[in-house]
Amino acid sequence: MKIEFRKVPTTPKEFTNNFASVKLEGSFCKISPTLIKVDAQLTGETPVLCIRCGEEENINLDEKLDFLLSDGMFKDNESEDLVIEIENGIIDFDEICESELSSIESDYHICKNCLDDNIKIEKEF
Ligand SMILES: [Zn+2]
Repeated sequence: MKIEFRKVPTTPKEFTNNFASVKLEGSFCKISPTLIKVDAQLTGETPVLCIRCGEEENINLDEKLDFLLSDGMFKDNESEDLVIEIENGIIDFDEICESELSSIESDYHICKNCLDDNIKIEKEF
């Protein structure tokens, strides 16, 4: 789903964006001429690789995803919120899902089998 930055209303608008095997659902609204606030929940499942054995495993996602969208460069470095800079005035929710998924994929992940092994090893010693 794509939406033009300038068309985003100042009252919260509900949205649902399906991308690959995940769904981003929530609301967004404009909080200043150059900032949009998004409150959303990312659900679904995505494959990740185990760092120990390299096996692929599907993990279930249910993550709160709150962030700001900035029209162009975001200048306030004091902000503690996650800020995504929008370059051409078009918000692309697929792209947001994609970058969130790739950050999940690059997270440290250990599959169930390796976790079970860990527990066994801990018990033996
Ligand atoms: Zn593993």
